[in-house]
Amino acid sequence: MFDAHAHLHAKEISGTLERILVDAAAAGVTGICSCGTCPEDWAATQMLSLRPLPMVLVPGFGVHPWYAEPLPDAWLESLEGCLDANPVAAVGEIGLDGVRDAVSAEVQEKVFVAQLELASRLSRPVILHGARAWGRLVAVLRPFASRLPGFVAHGFGGSREILTNIVAMGGYVSFAGSVCNHKAVKIRAAARETPECQILVETDTPDLFPRGGKSAGAGTGGKPLNQPCNLSLVLSEVATLRGMDPDTLADLTGANARRVLL
Ligand SMILES: [Zn+2]
Repeated sequence: MFDAHAHLHAKEISGTLERILVDAAAAGVTGICSCGTCPEDWAATQMLSLRPLPMVLVPGFGVHPWYAEPLPDAWLESLEGCLDANPVAAVGEIGLDGVRDAVSAEVQEKVFVAQLELASRLSRPVILHGARAWGRLVAVLRPFASRLPGFVAHGFGGSREILTNIVAMGGYVSFAGSVCNHKAVKIRAAARETPECQILVETDTPDLFPRGGKSAGAGTGGKPLNQPCNLSLVLSEVATLRGMDPDTLADLTGANARRVLL
């Protein structure tokens, strides 16, 4: 199994990270893409990518739309430095967000475009966040899509039309624990309809704790924290939706993740 999206640098899980990694390996997780979300956590992501781990780790460096303001003056140069130091690193998690309005749409877009330009210049795959902004994200991404070696729409929750657009641009579509919610009709339909060669699964650790999962500890307000060993729950739900054997889907999504990220 390859966990296409996690945040292993997250402070909430720093005390239990060793056990989390052991449990993930024991559960059959052979790869994780772990994304930084702001300049303050790039160093922790960098450290993680340098240490021996029981699985392949693809680090991602980027500025998430929630953190697009304020940014230090030389943030883009620092980002380029992280990418230069990590030849396998992706650019992410980056994108647009329509859930929180703390950062204006204009600033989000400016920071997103600067990172898309950097990713295409350095030929790095991109990990995209588009919560409630997938339509706008597709429009901004379109001129860059053919210049990028690949991109992943993480935690996908867009419409069928947006899915069609992402797939046509050659993008990969990643599903998180929200696919297990039977009320999430749109997400479940997308998980059925994404082509075999473009589907991925993820945990979004430490967020999106799935029902029936193993908690990595208590987060804000006592909420259970997610971890990569819970990927099997997402995987088996998507396999059921697609009428597939979970092991076959694990192999398929693992091969897809390696193709786009490595
Ligand atoms: Zn994330």
